[in-house]
Amino acid sequence: MAIENDLVAHPAMLVLARESRGWTQADLVAAMSKLDGGNRISQGYVSRSEAGRLAVRGDRLALFAAALHYTPKMLCSASELRGVGVGLIHHRKRASLGMTDLRRVHAVLACTRWQVDALTEALHPRCDHRFRPVEVTDIDSPQDAADTVREEWGVASGPIKDLVGLLEDAGALVVVRDLQTAALDAVSQWPPQGTPLFLLNSAAPGDRFRFSLAHELGHVVMHTRPGDAKQQEREADLFASQFLMPADVIIDDLQQGVDLPKLLALKDRWGTSMAALIRRAYSLSIIKEWQYRNLMVEMSALGYRTREPGQVPRETPQHVAQVVTRLARQQNLDTAQAANLAGLDPEEFHEIYLCVPSSDAPWDSAHP
Ligand SMILES: [Zn+2]
Repeated sequence: MAIENDLVAHPAMLVLARESRGWTQADLVAAMSKLDGGNRISQGYVSRSEAGRLAVRGDRLALFAAALHYTPKMLCSASELRGVGVGLIHHRKRASLGMTDLRRVHAVLACTRWQVDALTEALHPRCDHRFRPVEVTDIDSPQDAADTVREEWGVASGPIKDLVGLLEDAGALVVVRDLQTAALDAVSQWPPQGTPLFLLNSAAPGDRFRFSLAHELGHVVMHTRPGDAKQQEREADLFASQFLMPADVIIDDLQQGVDLPKLLALKDRWGTSMAALIRRAYSLSIIKEWQYRNLMVEMSALGYRTREPGQVPRETPQHVAQVVTRLARQQNLDTAQAANLAGLDPEEFHEIYLCVPSSDAPWDSAHP
């Protein structure tokens, strides 16, 4: 591939690109050497390139790009200009998630922002959104924050049928991908002057997916500064519960009795797991602690803590697909050209953004 000579790789993008593939420098050296007809690339070379101690351009840039499956242009982008890697990152994850996976997911998040921004900017330079920080104080609880967001966005009372659509309408970027770990459901980031981005694991069932997205929404609006991690997790869960299952409406449903058949029907109506509904009933004092425990024991005995009955359809983001359609209509770009704008090869672009995988794998619902 011929590359313009003035293109020089940005060291931080080289690191991000490699980490997004979950590769060590040695993995990248192996991939590059294989592509370069067995000419051995040294690890020292990769390491110096990533440290910015030598300039990567021309054939070597093409080799990095081919090995990493990103375009040379992406590797040369001044990442900080796009808010990549800027702003607090929030999660819904388990303690078992290791540092290596966490670094990989953060790199995927940064690359996702670059990809979606590059596409969207080709259509319109500024992206407006309706997100506003909502502070939690001694007087205003996470539940109040959830009510505030519902009110500001004009959400009708009762269940939210299309949570992803609601967030996309408010201007958020929502991307669903196989994050290659069961220990993480979602990450989110709202950089200053940027658009909130939510990256969700496609491996989760629909009900869990929705709760994770609402949890991340809570983080993004309430937690604009770092704070006590455990407290922020609790607050994000309280926000998610109230946002998806507002007390004033769900109370009537739960007061008609809380048993497994009723929970299954409520799961269908509210799009939340039976376990989340049981926790909701307990937190609203509709059931006592012993009833809560009994229900959870019953759920365990039936294997429902791993795989609940009843399927909540997994929601699919529309924004990127719509951008691709509009690029085709307004600028005559085909999917391969759109992929190129997003810095990806067409197969991967299609896989990530145009056909979101779904999974039916057993999923331990014991968290949080
Ligand atoms: Zn969280």
